[in-house]
Amino acid sequence: MKVLDLQCRQGHVFEGWFGSEDDFQGQKQRGLVQCPLCGDDHIEKRLSAPRLNLGARAPAAAAALAQPIATEGSQGVTPSETVALPPALQAAWLALARKVVANTEDVGERFAQEARRMHHGEVQERAIRGQATPDEAVQLLEEGIAVMPLPLPAAAKETLQ
Ligand SMILES: [Zn+2]
Repeated sequence: MKVLDLQCRQGHVFEGWFGSEDDFQGQKQRGLVQCPLCGDDHIEKRLSAPRLNLGARAPAAAAALAQPIATEGSQGVTPSETVALPPALQAAWLALARKVVANTEDVGERFAQEARRMHHGEVQERAIRGQATPDEAVQLLEEGIAVMPLPLPAAAKETLQ
């Protein structure tokens, strides 16, 4: 297995895994090697990148963002640099989480109790957040109370507490 650092005409850098150098040249000539970002098939080879962990698989997040290309046999091209969410997406998610935190009242472990009281009109309706066990959440849903699981990143709360 040979890992090559490749680059398209737009300057996108990605990795291609091939059986051999000849394999890369052959696939390239047939237009099978394409940039995963823009689809350009005018690919140049950069300096090769020796790797020891060839058995490693990209995490699910990368798989969801990656596009399959050059699907001939098992020797396709796999972009493996997109491990985490792009910074812009991370920032957007953090901004959203902060907004939720800023516009909800933290009732902590009284979440299920408060949600019920609001539902039955015992207290004024408002947006709340807090902790609920999976069982509590299911019970609330069965009672017709809308709850939504939201894994808040710790950074979203830091600015407010
Ligand atoms: Zn490109």
